[in-house]
Amino acid sequence: MRITEVHAVYPKNHHVGSSWRTHFWQIAVRIDTDTGVCGWGYGGGGEGAVRVVNGHFRDLLLGREVEADQEGIARTWDELYKACVPYGRRGIAIMALSGIDLALWDLAGRLAGKPVFELLGGGGERNRIRAYATGSQLSRSRDSGFTAVKTSIQPRATTTPSEAADAEKEAVSVAVEWATQARQMLGPQALLMVDAYMSWTPALAVSMAQALRESDVYWLEDVLLPDELEDLAALRTRIRPSLLAGGEHEFTHYGFAEVARAGALDLWQPDVTWCGGLTAARRIVDLAQRLGLAVVFHRGGEVWGLHLIASGAGEDLAELVIGSGGTGGQTLWRGEPQADNGYLTVPDGPGFGVEINTDFL
Ligand SMILES: [Mg+2]
Repeated sequence: MRITEVHAVYPKNHHVGSSWRTHFWQIAVRIDTDTGVCGWGYGGGGEGAVRVVNGHFRDLLLGREVEADQEGIARTWDELYKACVPYGRRGIAIMALSGIDLALWDLAGRLAGKPVFELLGGGGERNRIRAYATGSQLSRSRDSGFTAVKTSIQPRATTTPSEAADAEKEAVSVAVEWATQARQMLGPQALLMVDAYMSWTPALAVSMAQALRESDVYWLEDVLLPDELEDLAALRTRIRPSLLAGGEHEFTHYGFAEVARAGALDLWQPDVTWCGGLTAARRIVDLAQRLGLAVVFHRGGEVWGLHLIASGAGEDLAELVIGSGGTGGQTLWRGEPQADNGYLTVPDGPGFGVEINTDFL
């Protein structure tokens, strides 16, 4: 099979507000082949990643023979990775590569007439996946049947050290109030998680863990910068019994190998559309498995993560960012599963089982 066109676009849906993070600079990637079948993938990195796909990667892929199977896609991944090393390795180039990789997997599924999870070895026994709701609206999450929730807690911006100390105290009390309320509303079995989005100090993380101990918080996420691996490693035992989670800003199995060497995290959260696609995500999961660490994909409730989870990779838990509902029912990917009583069902159509909404192209 020969590749006849490669094209990335930055869809026009990025102005649509949702939850506490309004957009993720996501790009859509289309790969056409001489079979007449095309595949669609999803990547990150916005306009910069679009340039990488439509320039360098397109030059490398046009006219190329590709085997639409795991080994063939992995070979393509390895070659593109190596080709972009001078400007790549992390960030935009790998977010662009993620889009290519996912488009190739979608293509493989469409050619085989099978859902991607089946190509990955899943037999449908894990096709209904527990979802956790990311967002601050607890009653909405409870009413929708979620039994796992995550909120973002970030101290307000300050200019002086004394203001900063006050802001940290406020953040701790906001977190305790949220966790207490969540535990009361959702019961003793519910999973509660807190996301710092890199806004805490190690000392604040320890204070949070102590203050939240009674509420039994499953994990504290993205506490420091992803580069502060030694500080993260030192925090792990100090926030017990909560786990230290992170990895949405880490890239490829090479990056996660560094995290592993530092012993920086208890629970890894690669983003399938950023970390290098399915090919990289599977290598990351293999590494985590060898180390006995859990993996819960960042935004794993989107189809790219759901197919991986359905194949048996990572924990049986998928993140769903609960929007404030400003999209007018419009989504970029038609056929994306909606949560039903706190669970997501993986689409079983060919490829990832979704079609792009051309209104946004
Ligand atoms: Mg996060």
